Amino acid sequence: MNEKSKFHDDLRQGIRQLCAHYPDEYWRELDKQEAYPTEFVKSMTAAGYLAALIPEAYGGIGVGVTEASIILEEIHRSGGNAAACHAQMYIMGTLLRHGSEDQKEHFLPKIASGELRLQAFGVSEPDAGTDTTSISTTAVREGDHYRIRGQKIWTSRALHSDLMLLLARTTPAEEVRKRTLGLSVFLIDLREAVGNGVTIEPIDVMINHHTTMVYFDDLRVPIDSLIGDEGMGFRYILDGMNAERILIAAECIGDGYWFVERATRYANERIVFDRPIGQNQGIQFPIAQAYIKIRAADLMRFEAARLFDDGQPCGAEANMSKLLAAEASWEAANVALQTYGGFGFAKEYDVERKFRETRLYQIAPISTNLILSYIGQHTLGMPRSF
Ligand SMILES: Cc1cc2nc3c(=O)[nH]c(=O)nc-3n(C[C@H](O)[C@H](O)[C@H](O)COP(=O)(O)OP(=O)(O)OC[C@H]3O[C@@H](n4cnc5c(N)ncnc54)[C@H](O)[C@@H]3O)c2cc1C
Repeated sequence: MNEKSKFHDDLRQGIRQLCAHYPDEYWRELDKQEAYPTEFVKSMTAAGYLAALIPEAYGGIGVGVTEASIILEEIHRSGGNAAACHAQMYIMGTLLRHGSEDQKEHFLPKIASGELRLQAFGVSEPDAGTDTTSISTTAVREGDHYRIRGQKIWTSRALHSDLMLLLARTTPAEEVRKRTLGLSVFLIDLREAVGNGVTIEPIDVMINHHTTMVYFDDLRVPIDSLIGDEGMGFRYILDGMNAERILIAAECIGDGYWFVERATRYANERIVFDRPIGQNQGIQFPIAQAYIKIRAADLMRFEAARLFDDGQPCGAEANMSKLLAAEASWEAANVALQTYGGFGFAKEYDVERKFRETRLYQIAPISTNLILSYIGQHTLGMPRSF
């Protein structure tokens, strides 16, 4: 085993040990109460895992996307869900790559230590989901501050985050050369903003995800809330998307392994017609198929992560790994449910919870169709379809 594999192995063991303190019952109860996994997030932060991508100079552990993806995979493989804390890993990249030295020195060490949570990312709007450049939230410069008006939807964790990364239009779409210009990124301090121009309302959804509607009603933020150059925010957000795709792929892969492990165990234990159901090829083969697809997606995940960490273009691989992993985890979820039969519907087996949770990844943070259109256009050279 080479040094890197040994490091990855140790990393996996470390997360597994931490996750062992948060067993099925913990996640099941949170799901029932629709509660935020505060203790789990605190433990992950204290162990330094959530600061994986923050450079050591700013108090993090400064590893690559490969290692960050292993961390998230293991959370999902343990039966948990990283949605409560994964955003920090990829949102933080925008601050790291495009923030000023002052902003980085001020925020990154506090994010790394857990003093501040950066978990909220406000891009989607009720009338602009996939079509990001048509967002209508505006930030207008007025002297030493910006005034922000508009509405975001699906801003996950906003009620559990101190900071929020916000995309808003600073120049009207009609006045820019390209619609991708004139959008800017702001780091909003929610502790000051809520009640002073920001209102947050939870949205009731099919999984325990803490997602919200955020209203901006003339919120005033100082000009130093702007990240990077005004008008360049769309590119900054795109910059972070490859990392996001790879990390989400890893979560799907963790889910996929969880489903296969549980289904295999159940197929070996459940006796029907005097033999384990796993002896029937009708049960055994779909589990084997699901496993093969997860392993294949896993290879694409590591290839995408390797390219990313080497600083090479990885748009195609990041997108393909996300699509393959999301489809593989969903297939594994269906296979696990089928294997468990009626018991799959009983909450105490956790299959139905993970089943609901893993479905999300074909829609958010990017839907399957958009990945297909990316590959069709950018990798294969076919015409843009929208
Ligand atoms: C639980 C949850 C959490 C989320 N968290 C966040 C968050 O923290 N921050 C945030 O900003 N957003 C978040 N989102 C939003 C998510 O990113 C969007 O839902 C997603 O981008 C799709 O946008 P939409 O829902 O508006 O779908 P739409 O844009 O309305 O699309 C609907 C369907 O049409 C398809 N479609 C649209 N245009 C085309 C086309 N040209 N060709 C083919 N198919 C097309 C889409 O693929 C999709 O399947 C979250 C969503 C959910 C459900």
